[in-house]
Amino acid sequence: HLFDDLKLNRQILNAIDDLGFEKPTEIQSKVIPVALAGHDLFGIAQTGTGKTLAFVAPLVMKVKYAQGEHPRALILAPTRELVLQIAESFSALAKYTDLRMAALYGGVGPKTQIEEVEKGVDVLISTPGRFLDIYSKGHIVPKGIKTLILDEADKMMDMGFLPQIRRILEVVPRKRQNMLFSATMADKVVKLTEEFLEFPERIEV
Ligand code: AMP
Repeated sequence: HLFDDLKLNRQILNAIDDLGFEKPTEIQSKVIPVALAGHDLFGIAQTGTGKTLAFVAPLVMKVKYAQGEHPRALILAPTRELVLQIAESFSALAKYTDLRMAALYGGVGPKTQIEEVEKGVDVLISTPGRFLDIYSKGHIVPKGIKTLILDEADKMMDMGFLPQIRRILEVVPRKRQNMLFSATMADKVVKLTEEFLEFPERIEV
């Protein structure tokens, strides 16, 4: 099973080639077709399985062909480190496209991040708190967001982000594709999937 079988476009396949990855990992083989088909999904996978590329590659495809207002997608992650890691993966996979993204996280002043957002980006990758911070200052118009991804949802629950996530769910459009990734099926995560996902495909590796 090779990346070429996964219906990704040439620009993304070339970017994957540049990374030196020869074949998809198990989570990638299972997630990419479901994500490209537009279904909601609940992925249960640890770090190290290749889960980041599993959601970033189909997202690059989807956002590239989408119409409408910016930003078109939001990825939420619990920590600055994870936001930066996802951003790095996005930049690598989108290198042959003209897609733009901004990475938003706390611990630094918001000014530079606000400037990035104001320039107009296709994808936001953010911690929940910093997204709401910049949104509430009026710099993010979320009505074009058609894809919402929650990475390491179990960690987000452990860190007490549920109220912020609920608030974000209230400000993004109702009609959208959702993907949630977690290392575990802890009760809190399963409850969140019930609130957040519509008829999800469950993918476990
Ligand atoms: P992740 O689970 O997303 O944190 O990815 C773990 C590591 O696996 C990262 O360093 C990726 O660069 C690498 N990786 C992702 N997909 C593949 C693949 N298909 N083949 C080889 N390495 C990969």
